[in-house]
Amino acid sequence: MYFPTDLELAELAAWRHELHRRPEISGEEAETARAVRAALALTSPDKVIAYLGGHGVAAVYDGTDEGPTVMFRAELDGLPIEEISDLPYRSTVAGKGHLCGHDGHMAILMALANEFGRQRPRRGRVVLMFQPAEENGAGAAAVIEDSKFAEIVPDYAFSLHNLPGLPLGHVALDSGPVNCASRGMKVELFGKTSHASLPEDGTSPMLAVAGLMPDLTALAEGGAMNANFALVTVTHARMGEPAFGIAPGHAEIWATLRTTTDAGMAGIVARAEALVAQRAAQAGLTFAVSYHDVFHHCENAPEAVAHLRHALQQEEVAHDSGVFPIKASEDFGRFAASGPSAMFYLGAGENYPQLHNPDYDFPDALIAIGARIFMRTARNLLD
Ligand SMILES: [Zn+2]
Ligand SMILES: [Zn+2]
Repeated sequence: MYFPTDLELAELAAWRHELHRRPEISGEEAETARAVRAALALTSPDKVIAYLGGHGVAAVYDGTDEGPTVMFRAELDGLPIEEISDLPYRSTVAGKGHLCGHDGHMAILMALANEFGRQRPRRGRVVLMFQPAEENGAGAAAVIEDSKFAEIVPDYAFSLHNLPGLPLGHVALDSGPVNCASRGMKVELFGKTSHASLPEDGTSPMLAVAGLMPDLTALAEGGAMNANFALVTVTHARMGEPAFGIAPGHAEIWATLRTTTDAGMAGIVARAEALVAQRAAQAGLTFAVSYHDVFHHCENAPEAVAHLRHALQQEEVAHDSGVFPIKASEDFGRFAASGPSAMFYLGAGENYPQLHNPDYDFPDALIAIGARIFMRTARNLLD
């Protein structure tokens, strides 16, 4: 099996560069989805499902015999970060960039589309899932909740993410927790504004804000990666108005909560909410807490990992069990609900800009490696 060919790889890289030029952020991936549907159409899938959980696109390639549904997932979204590079295909959209490599993940799935267009699986079916809104944690859940998803519920689900810091093309893969749970906590404190000359007429949130920022940080300060790892990072705060004549009556604190497991998250959430209630009561304030960008922890099933490992050995891709879980979050774990799922990390190079950095760019050399691993996994399960 010689796949993908050099000609195909050149075309896939060029296609990725086009996506790279026109990044769209979570929930706004209309043109990216259109480009995906146009490229998929050339491979004559048996079915294409559009507008899945937003702008999601899934292509289905049926085998002739009964068998499992095997899903491979890529992500459609870029980031609200200005790209800084000299690349000829640098982002043309101000303030937005494909700086997590999702353009490369899409190119890998398109390599599979080309091959399944030429040769269907013998049994079961392959689903190529181009998921929207990964970066804010909303996309996988929205896809699963979409009634159209019932047609393509996977028996196995696989994904990959490129990872700077690992040698180029080297794979890290293991069973168990692979990504942390995380969520944004927004705390609003409500008092009463007053004239700055008469602060005693109002109720200022100032002391509560000043106390809560170190209190929340001290709840969980990171440390060693184990089952008890937890980290609270205060990311934003504001209070009152930028004016000298008004004593503040309103404040906001934003914090990101991160834990190894969903159970650990429940504990940190309860403690953070108790702190907020205590500080607000002391200051005579009311408060509201809301959560945003909620990611569950992501866990690899041993059976799905075994299928990937077998493919890595057959394709002679260097791999090890890595250091997991990694601190960043990922919403792919949601697909674990319907069957064994696993994702692996594919090295982008040891001295390479980190994900979400303004000078990051997906290495094209990874398209072939990722595609070969996925294709071998699919053929093993379905041929
Ligand atoms: Zn990202
Ligand atoms: Zn990503």
